[in-house]
Amino acid sequence: MQRSSSHTTWFPIVLRMDGARVLVIGGGNVAANKIQLLVPTGAKIEVLSQNLTPELQRLAEESAIEHVAIDVTPHDVKARLAGCRLVYVATNDAALNRDIASVCQAENVPVCAVDDPGISSFITPALSIRGAVQVAVSTGGAAPVLARRLRARIEEVLPAGLHRLVEFMQDKRLPLREKLPASSDRRQVWERFLDGRGQHLALKGDTQAAAEELDQLTQGHTPQGEVWLVGAGPGDPDLLTLAALRLMQDADTVLYDNLIGRDILNYVRRDAERVFVGKQRNRHTLPQEGINEELIRRAKAGERVLRLKGGDPFIFGRGGEEMEALVAAGVPFRIVPGISAANGCAAYAGIPLTHRDCAQSCLFITGHARADGTLELAWDRIALRGQTVVIYMGLSMLPDLCAQLHAHGLPADWPAALVERGTSPEQRVFTGTLASLPNLAQSNGVTSPALVIVGEVVQHRVVPAPPT
Ligand code: SAH
Repeated sequence: MQRSSSHTTWFPIVLRMDGARVLVIGGGNVAANKIQLLVPTGAKIEVLSQNLTPELQRLAEESAIEHVAIDVTPHDVKARLAGCRLVYVATNDAALNRDIASVCQAENVPVCAVDDPGISSFITPALSIRGAVQVAVSTGGAAPVLARRLRARIEEVLPAGLHRLVEFMQDKRLPLREKLPASSDRRQVWERFLDGRGQHLALKGDTQAAAEELDQLTQGHTPQGEVWLVGAGPGDPDLLTLAALRLMQDADTVLYDNLIGRDILNYVRRDAERVFVGKQRNRHTLPQEGINEELIRRAKAGERVLRLKGGDPFIFGRGGEEMEALVAAGVPFRIVPGISAANGCAAYAGIPLTHRDCAQSCLFITGHARADGTLELAWDRIALRGQTVVIYMGLSMLPDLCAQLHAHGLPADWPAALVERGTSPEQRVFTGTLASLPNLAQSNGVTSPALVIVGEVVQHRVVPAPPT
């Protein structure tokens, strides 16, 4: 499935505002909306405007804001910018707003001209606030109405009492750190707390019982590291299994291959440690033994380690070797299958792998050459009619592979296809014959990863409908 790029120029952060100076230019309803959000943070708010709404007037009388009653000019603003953390511009004069915004930009003070992201250096997202929990939705100023819709939907699922839960967790943070110094231990305890009755007790406000529950979990906690060997599929994140997605969200550490694209890594928990252990032909970043040792070392230290692999871990993925090493070391592990390149590429290229008329079997083989540069394969069992052959890692040996298949009995015009970066938005498919495929690959500059599919099924190819 094709997806558009996730490019955006806006970067969300959470800003500390207690004691920070904020200038607000304008005293109408738009300004009042922002001021209401700012007052609880303890910011020092100066409102520059001839007039104030009654509500702002009340805030000024209570000294929650400081009112400077002037007909504002850009010059007035410039004179007050020193030491300002933020500026909001919300007068009803668009030209004046623009002039003030450019003065702020010139002085490098973050400025938000309300409803005009084009001249703003920051924007205010749609916010839901429950105590210390703040959910912010931004569309980068592109569609504020959509942002508010999304916020409303998020609010529906935020439990009542969330502010109590977060308060409880905040109170217990430091005491728990003393009892369990390792962050992965604390995370496991909190997860069990949130998965169990602890969460409900804290949401209800039964702090006493929630604390007892937390104590019990803390006392009963023994650091339990494990390794998850997980297949991430061939590239399109839509092909991740639900199990893979859940473990990607739970892991402390992720060891990943070079077959794992950024699109997939985006689904890994943000603060999980990411370790690249990808292998490239003739250039091993970390040898297999090194990967095995790393998995074992981390699991024994109590980490939950996700070994994320392209496709399926048990198909040309050395998952078997890793599993054996884990068994030998006594490390608990789990295996989650993934959609292998053969399945993904075939489906997205519209080539069936078996077909009643022409392919009663399907063989997955590796076209990776041995160290001496030769291929040692049982050609007599591979070069057969009535069978589909899927060749992994076959790109660099493609001319030899096609020549051998021909030499062992398949005709030169036997159908064959090449799928480059299957299932990704850059997928390319080339169809030809054993005779033509090597040239097709070369003249089109096909690069790894690419999968070869050989057999009459290629003639049954139907180009799938474009993704919706
Ligand atoms: N465990 C993986 C295979 C790893 S071997 C799986 O089950 O898919 C690496 C080879 O897989 C590559 O050289 C290539 O032949 C194939 N491959 C993996 N992802 C691919 C993709 N998106 N498109 C085409 N081929 C791919």
